[in-house]
Amino acid sequence: KESCGRENSVAKIKVVVRKRPLNKKETARKEDDIVTVSDNSLTVHETKLKVDLTAYEEKHEFCFDAVLGEHVSNDEVYRVTIEPIIPTIFQRTKATCFAYGQTGSGKTFTMKPLPIRAVQDLMRMLNQRVYRDQRLKLWLSYFEIYGGKLYDLLSERKKLCMREDGRQQVCIVGLQEYEVSDVQLVKDFIDKGNASRSTGSTGANEESSRSHAILQLVVKKHMEVKETRRSNIDSNESRGKVVGKISFIDLAGSERGADTTDNDRQTRIEGAEINKSLLALKECIRALDNDQLHIPFRGSKLTEVLRDSFVGNSRTVMISCISPNEGSCEHTLNTLRYADRVK
Ligand code: ADP
Ligand code: MG
Repeated sequence: KESCGRENSVAKIKVVVRKRPLNKKETARKEDDIVTVSDNSLTVHETKLKVDLTAYEEKHEFCFDAVLGEHVSNDEVYRVTIEPIIPTIFQRTKATCFAYGQTGSGKTFTMKPLPIRAVQDLMRMLNQRVYRDQRLKLWLSYFEIYGGKLYDLLSERKKLCMREDGRQQVCIVGLQEYEVSDVQLVKDFIDKGNASRSTGSTGANEESSRSHAILQLVVKKHMEVKETRRSNIDSNESRGKVVGKISFIDLAGSERGADTTDNDRQTRIEGAEINKSLLALKECIRALDNDQLHIPFRGSKLTEVLRDSFVGNSRTVMISCISPNEGSCEHTLNTLRYADRVK
């Protein structure tokens, strides 16, 4: 395939697949690992039945910018995906990193360490003399999109609304931003935010699989109050002018988009919303990749919120997480096909 061997660490769009190891349950059930990885390609070995019920194997091969097998550490994931992007954040770039995949495939496991490592590197750069003199500061916010609505994960799940200003900048009204000065603080913010992720009506933890969690790190040039007033910057930017930002998005479980025939009405509505947002996301990334002028971000709340990250200097990293077990074969193939359409 054409993107095979594409070796560009700061490519505008990078699609990476991460396979997790078999877990205890799957091992106890003696499930096979049906995914083999070699370099930047992988093969899914699907067992199928002929009409006479004899089994045969169908192989599906895929190729991506990088394929990370079950022995790859979180540090290595960071080096492949985010580390090359960090310097671009100081050059007016808006970067976005998505974790896509079915529930249980490792999205949260993969995503959680990334902003923590990113903050370490961003702070190291902020302390370099060139940047120290520019009065740059790092800010963090964390919110979720659930059923097409926005909630602040660091402010008692306060409901938020979004508007666009005259310059087509997205503004999330009331979203709390916190200044980041040490790494431990970031860990605490993430834990706090994850704990308040949507628990829905059942109160079950699995409800978080129906929401997109968005953590943003923003580098801003600090301004004095009177400067702020003079340049007429809206409340969201009141603490300075945005230099660059990076968003980490733990997407809703991709299988949830298929919940559109569920008996429960609420589940159906949420499923339809998730389906819509994942489709819209795919279309936006494809449009970006083709350098289209028109990016169809109006397709969903998720893509609308990310509007300013889809224009100008943008970087997109898609980490597609897959489960290795036989029982997940169909979901794994769906995830890989989605990733294949994006790259
Ligand atoms: P998701 O967020 O996609 O629903 P999680 O990140 O919660 O999935 O992962 C499901 C389980 O698998 C968790 O217990 C997690 O610790 C474990 N896990 C996921 N990826 C890996 C990995 N690469 N190595 C070891 N354990 C993993
Ligand atoms: Mg999760």
